[in-house]
Amino acid sequence: PVLDRYAVFGNPIGHSKSPFIHGQFASLTQQPLSYEAILAPIDGFEASLRAFFQAGGKGANVTVPFKEQAFALCDSLSAEATLAGAVNTLSLLADGTIYGDNTDGLGLVADLIRHLGSLQHKRVLLVGAGGAARGCILPLLKAEVGQLVITNRTQSKAQALVEIFSQVQQGRYSDKLQSMSMPELSGEFDLVINSTSASLAGELPPLPQSIISNKTACYDMMYGAKPTAFNQWAAQQGAAQVIDGLGMLVGQAAKSFALWRGVEPDTSGVLKLLRDKLQADAQ
Ligand code: NDP
Repeated sequence: PVLDRYAVFGNPIGHSKSPFIHGQFASLTQQPLSYEAILAPIDGFEASLRAFFQAGGKGANVTVPFKEQAFALCDSLSAEATLAGAVNTLSLLADGTIYGDNTDGLGLVADLIRHLGSLQHKRVLLVGAGGAARGCILPLLKAEVGQLVITNRTQSKAQALVEIFSQVQQGRYSDKLQSMSMPELSGEFDLVINSTSASLAGELPPLPQSIISNKTACYDMMYGAKPTAFNQWAAQQGAAQVIDGLGMLVGQAAKSFALWRGVEPDTSGVLKLLRDKLQADAQ
């Protein structure tokens, strides 16, 4: 029988872990499928994607730098994708139209719940106001956090996100959302999430120490063999727990897989394999 085909599109794509992750999910859940990495030309994402669907592809993940282009070409979208303005998961529907979803934030929340239990009533600080931050706001609000404060180096972008999400569902979440500039941040947080790309350059957003106590959990969306600059700093401040974004990566993949196949794979085994690989590659 011909296997159902899936793929991840990006540029670059060589180091993507998605084929490995989905390959593991497929064997874990005994779903017969293939999953490949496709390098789309910078100016040729849409053509490359449509050719893949025409050749029988059923679904695709999308990564840097094509998530906004993927959003623009969808015929229908989930609420998460609409609000994120970006799509990481595409499905070809039976009528030939393309449905877009964004599972990054759902993957983050699933990983946070795995580590911390419920997020209900927690006071959460989201650092950063780029694409990754934007995709996580609705899933965090749906997980019933008590308060969500957004801060960013360019403060106006954090304020703009608060304004957008305050309108969601007739203002249902507006009293939970707030933006604060980094110097004016005050009070302790139960959870601090770093969604900036500062760690990529080994840099640290200029956050006051006072936001972290020995009850604060810290999460950096970035991951690597060594702790990120943010997680090193958080540990030095005495944070209760520091977590990196590898579980978010596996979590978003599991949510995509569930959308396509109707079964959500357990992530713990794959996460352990990836963690071991990261360590081994760093040796
Ligand atoms: P964007 O480029 O859209 O946004 C970057 C954000 O980082 C902005 O808020 C920017 O602030 C801030 N920033 C950059 N450099 C610094 C610095 N030196 N100090 C303070 N703030 C800084 O990136 P994305 O939102 O798409 O991605 C952010 C990170 O999230 C990346 O590292 C990415 O790898 C990670 N990510 C991880 C995922 C996972 O599965 N684990 C999934 C998706 C993303 P300003 O507005 O002022 O420029």
